[in-house]
Amino acid sequence: MRDRIENIDLSIRKIAQKAGEQDEIVRFDIGQPSFDTPEHVKEAGKEGLDNKQGYSPILGIEDLRTAIKDEENAKNGYGEAGKKILEENVMVTTGGMGALYAIFAARLGEEDKAVFNDPCWGPYKMISEVSGNKWTQVRYWDDDGNLTEEAKEEIAEADLMVVNTPGNPTGYVLTEEQAREIGEVADENNTFMISDEVYHRLTYGKDHYSPALYTGEAAIIGSVSKNHAMTGWRIGWIIDEEDNIEEYAKVSRASTACPPRVSQYAAVEAIENDSHVEEMREAYHERRDLLVERMNELGWSFRAPEGAIYAFPDVGSDSWDFCLDMIEEGVAMVPGEPMGPGSDTNVRICFGSTTKREIEDAFDRLEDELE
Ligand code: PMP
Repeated sequence: MRDRIENIDLSIRKIAQKAGEQDEIVRFDIGQPSFDTPEHVKEAGKEGLDNKQGYSPILGIEDLRTAIKDEENAKNGYGEAGKKILEENVMVTTGGMGALYAIFAARLGEEDKAVFNDPCWGPYKMISEVSGNKWTQVRYWDDDGNLTEEAKEEIAEADLMVVNTPGNPTGYVLTEEQAREIGEVADENNTFMISDEVYHRLTYGKDHYSPALYTGEAAIIGSVSKNHAMTGWRIGWIIDEEDNIEEYAKVSRASTACPPRVSQYAAVEAIENDSHVEEMREAYHERRDLLVERMNELGWSFRAPEGAIYAFPDVGSDSWDFCLDMIEEGVAMVPGEPMGPGSDTNVRICFGSTTKREIEDAFDRLEDELE
């Protein structure tokens, strides 16, 4: 077995396992929307199943590439006014994970380095370990929202950088100025950017801006998993230059052959008839507000999430000890420690997977325990 694989620590599983053993527990640890996939989307999947079940084209079925192209062109600054995305620029993948893996595997050799924000979503590091490239983590933004000098240095040295907005685990959303600033630094240094925008439709009172608009070489990653409550359908995508798409397609061909066909019919329906997104977004927004209120009452230090489905408060003590203790009290959260060197005392709370009632119950328990 390769050392790189043996050394991957699936430590988060410890939390899930322990939480699973508890009868009465609020699961803030899972990044899984509480909503079911909408009925009309399931119906489209069933129709797809009745009609066609074989392999799909490697790049995905035409209807889905068209729907994704339209969705991406509707983002701030894209489409008619900015960069224009065509069907040729779209590759459908097996989830956003498949998109990330295809880019890492296609672009990075053993000596090449990727840079990630501190904190970041854990699988960027895990994908690097599997693909065999070097990686580093640095705090991108200071408390005033300016790009740090350390980040500029690391970006200049790296072959590839990942920017994630709205962000997991913090829920932060880049402003237009921040998107421009980090995009321009990538451009000046010819560092290839992956802009991970899988949560782009889930923002609360803020607009989404893509940093990919401000640099010459960037791929955008998207997914139906969270925006449409379709995690298990495994559909994501890459937006990039046609020549690059041809290269990523080789990785897809060598790993999954094609994205799941039946799911692609469902994804077309989800993207084209998408009123469910606003309903879910409003529910998440209400949960976010309640969570912020309850975290304030506990006196935790945090910045209110502006997007995605996570908050990342500083609880003021070792994140592993805290999370393992709180599971005993019936509240499961994810320790911040594996998400970056600056996050030892933070915990990730997913408000996408819980009802308002559950948030109230969980914080009543935390209050009893901590006060
Ligand atoms: N990027 C980020 C930041 C994520 O949080 C996720 C899902 N947790 C993904 C990518 C991948 O999503 P999926 O593979 O389910 O499309």
